[in-house]
Amino acid sequence: MKTVHIIGAGLAGLGAAVRLTTHGVRVALHESAGHAGGRCRSFYDETLDRVIDNGNHLLLSGNFTVMEFLDAVGSRDSLVGPQDPVIPFVDLATGARWAVRPNAGRLPWWIFAPSRRVPGTSPGDYLAALRLARAGKDDTVADCLNVSRAARHNFWEPLTIAVLNAGIEEASANLLWPVMTEIFGKGAKASRPLIAREGLSQSFIEPALRLLDRAGATVRFNQRLREIERDGDRVTALDLVRERIVIGPDDRVVLAIPPMPTMALLPEIKGPEATRAIVNAHFRLPRAMEEDGMPFLGLIGGTAHWLFLRRDIASITVSAADELAEKPNEEVAAILWKDTAKALALGDAPLPLWRIVKEKRATFAQIPSQVALRPSPRTQWRNLFLAGDWINTGLPASIEGTLRSGFSAADLALAP
Ligand SMILES: Cc1cc2nc3c(=O)[nH]c(=O)nc-3n(C[C@H](O)[C@H](O)[C@H](O)COP(=O)(O)OP(=O)(O)OC[C@H]3O[C@@H](n4cnc5c(N)ncnc54)[C@H](O)[C@@H]3O)c2cc1C
Repeated sequence: MKTVHIIGAGLAGLGAAVRLTTHGVRVALHESAGHAGGRCRSFYDETLDRVIDNGNHLLLSGNFTVMEFLDAVGSRDSLVGPQDPVIPFVDLATGARWAVRPNAGRLPWWIFAPSRRVPGTSPGDYLAALRLARAGKDDTVADCLNVSRAARHNFWEPLTIAVLNAGIEEASANLLWPVMTEIFGKGAKASRPLIAREGLSQSFIEPALRLLDRAGATVRFNQRLREIERDGDRVTALDLVRERIVIGPDDRVVLAIPPMPTMALLPEIKGPEATRAIVNAHFRLPRAMEEDGMPFLGLIGGTAHWLFLRRDIASITVSAADELAEKPNEEVAAILWKDTAKALALGDAPLPLWRIVKEKRATFAQIPSQVALRPSPRTQWRNLFLAGDWINTGLPASIEGTLRSGFSAADLALAP
């Protein structure tokens, strides 16, 4: 019986493993860290005395591969969000508050309703998105959008940074377009924002590990892959820290690790090298604020981009945050607490207990020159396939793109 060896227990590796076990294939998963989840996980933080996520992750109801994965592992109901697609915003500089409210159905009539769009914008500011469809591979989002200042500042910039972890001036237009068609182009049903109710690990990681355990898959932690032995067009052995695994004629390998370690193991593979950081700040509030009605809030006009509330923990995200990530944690906490206190109308409340999480390589740089380097999941070795958010799925580096890549690699490994 064929065994598929999967390297890396992030979402790409877990996605591939779940897909393969549901097809009855034997799976062995090898992970270098002492835990699964990679860049999408929860952990207990001693300072806050709470379980927190490494970073806020926003999903959308139209992420159909995410839903397929959650259905397979039995945790779709662990995502929560408003019944209607409402995304509330506050401008930290002016105090103005508004919400973007796409309508039901495919025809986006909401852009003609001033109460549903960003104040000061016109329908043309949204219809401009159609130009993204004709973007060339070298175009940035800013190259394609000739829109009003209000639309740029309060809609397109925050949307681009949230989706592509890069500013509008450098982000790849080609990567924003699929999100417009798969999500906003499908109306309210696909555009509901969702977050993990308890945490990323409770929604994604733990249910997947339980499923793998039930299916008899082998999952090994602290098992770093050091070398891949190749002969001609085949991988013949995997040299892991604690064992050497011979790859039999029917066996397959799915390499689901980030670009830099992949290229260090296999210099023949070329991929994106530049990355962009995401900084998250978690604050323990004096009281739970979830029942105040909104699990998350978009922030404009400050340093912070998103605020998520989970009981008494307020978590702030700053994307495309390479500069901020270089500052000392104390300074970052002070800057982001100011934004948080403003957003939550807490006046000059003193800095509470905090934890800063800097993901310096949160995603590959989703800019035209780096997008062009994304490899396909097939390699020159017929029994080795690649998975991960940096593989060419045509989608941004996101949970949806990652899982789609994990499923594709699994499908390739399933072939006889
Ligand atoms: C702070 C932050 C916020 C984000 N926000 C969002 C969001 O709002 N919405 C969204 O959809 N996406 C978001 N993302 C993106 C999403 O988290 C990633 O795209 C996804 O988790 C990538 O998964 P992966 O499996 O490709 O890689 P990883 O999660 O990096 O997994 C790779 C795994 O391989 C292991 N590994 C590495 N080298 C080896 C080796 N030699 N041997 C064995 N194992 C190895 C690593 O330890 C790791 O566990 C965010 C990411 C970050 C960091």
